[in-house]
Amino acid sequence: MTELFPKVLVIGGGPGGYVAAIRCGQLGLDTVLVEADRLGGTCLIRGCIPSKSMIEAADKYDLIAKAAKGLIHGISLEASPKADMADVIAWKDGVVDKLNGGVTSLLRRAKVKILHGWGRFSDAKTCHVDTPDGTIIIRPEHVILATGSKPVALPNLAFDSTVISSTEALSLNSLPNRLVVVGAGYIGMELGGAFAKLGSNVTIVEAADRILPQYDEKLVAPVKKAFESKGVNFKLSAKAEAISEDGLSITMEGGHHEILAADKVLVTVGRAPLTEGWGLEEMAVKMDGRFVAVDEQCATSSRNVWAIGDLVGEPMLAHKASAQGEMVAEIIAGKRRRFDPVAIPSVCYTDPEIVCVGIGPGAHETTESVFPLAANGRALTMGADEGGGFIRIISEKHSHRILGVQAVGRHVSELSATFTHAIENGLVLEDVAGVIHAHPTLSEAFHEAALQGLGHAIHV
Ligand code: FAD
Ligand code: FAD
Repeated sequence: MTELFPKVLVIGGGPGGYVAAIRCGQLGLDTVLVEADRLGGTCLIRGCIPSKSMIEAADKYDLIAKAAKGLIHGISLEASPKADMADVIAWKDGVVDKLNGGVTSLLRRAKVKILHGWGRFSDAKTCHVDTPDGTIIIRPEHVILATGSKPVALPNLAFDSTVISSTEALSLNSLPNRLVVVGAGYIGMELGGAFAKLGSNVTIVEAADRILPQYDEKLVAPVKKAFESKGVNFKLSAKAEAISEDGLSITMEGGHHEILAADKVLVTVGRAPLTEGWGLEEMAVKMDGRFVAVDEQCATSSRNVWAIGDLVGEPMLAHKASAQGEMVAEIIAGKRRRFDPVAIPSVCYTDPEIVCVGIGPGAHETTESVFPLAANGRALTMGADEGGGFIRIISEKHSHRILGVQAVGRHVSELSATFTHAIENGLVLEDVAGVIHAHPTLSEAFHEAALQGLGHAIHV
């Protein structure tokens, strides 16, 4: 039996774990990374990247289909387009494969030792990995836990060939004619929107009384309108109960039942940290509810055991996982670091897209300034104004300090960094107003929203 004694052992090769391992390698730390599946984790293999690939393919199809009806900027097509799901999935797999290969070579370049197999701890510093070459025991000085998360199943709707999670939805070789999505969170809305564009009849069931309940209503309204114009049917204040031959039974508020016929039922009711099956219970680390408890350095209650990413709590986002991974590597290498971002951006890749950074509207002693995309030249050239998109800045009343920015509209995801820079660096409205923004770009709408907050927007 082989034994290894590295400085650092990373469990999980998602955006938390692989980034931690690369940074450890760059800092000269002898590092082993254990991954049971493919390098890249949920994000790269069955999350962010495949879903955005599908969304992009659906957008292209939708655009070409519109042109076939003579609706696009005066461009028309003689015949309607065809989307072959198997080809769409093959293209998506190509994108994933490229990035997976990239992660592998980055890890090699950083001299990280990669072990393919399932890691299991017998105590906090002893990990057994069953690899194709036999069992390897690793006794590291430091452990970074980055096991990520898994989709949550509903009690009466176990995953099978009809009831599927986002993982299966991203690899369907044929388009479901009738797709019912349970849960109008960001994953359900992103995938539901893509399937609707590709031609499925989509119904979205949501227990709350509105879609994307974590956002305010004004921000969500353009998304709801756009989905409805695509023929997506919403069942709000409705709970999915069970599946039978006839379809999915749902209970509406007030107790009324309905059956929704479905070829596939996509359940997207949240994700849960992966805390079972790898010996967490042997490690004596404290928990914080269902997550592993960590301090502001991502240290667990067990000495030199660190935890990052989806395993340690919300927001369960790839860029948060990576930022924590990079930080922990630097702490192990002796740098003074802590995880205290002012704001972590979140993007919902529906059409139109939603970006949120920092605080939302309604807080005490704040001002909201809004600029509509319909008054932005670039938005009009890109069709980004459709359905009432806008950029909204929340600033502190007395100091004008920017505390939050939200946007809804096509392509606004690319503005998320601009918004985050402003908040993270403590900019005031005057700072943004005083910067020359290129014309014509969507970023001018951010400039104008700042001017609006100061009472002198030019284009509204
Ligand atoms: P994961 O990416 O879950 O990686 C954990 C890895 O650990 C896995 O590869 C797993 O195989 C491995 N592992 C676990 N236990 C063991 C063990 N015992 N031994 C060996 N290996 C093990 N986030 C965004 O920021 N933007 C998005 O647009 C976005 N879109 C998403 C879309 C979908 C459909 C889904 C499902 C998620 C999306 N996310 C998005 C969330 C994002 O994927 C996660 O926040 C991110 O992947 C978390 O990274 P992580 O490193 O903590 O864990
Ligand atoms: P969720 O977003 O949790 O949505 C699941 C939905 O399903 C809910 O609306 C719920 O009401 C509904 N539902 C549950 N059971 C049923 C049922 N039986 N029938 C019908 N509907 C049901 N985390 C935060 O803590 N705060 C945030 O503000 C936040 N914002 C985010 C923004 C973005 C763009 C992203 C990518 C993530 C965000 N997260 C946030 C993290 C997010 O909550 C987690 O990643 C979550 O696990 C996302 O998965 P989901 O879309 O499947 O679930």
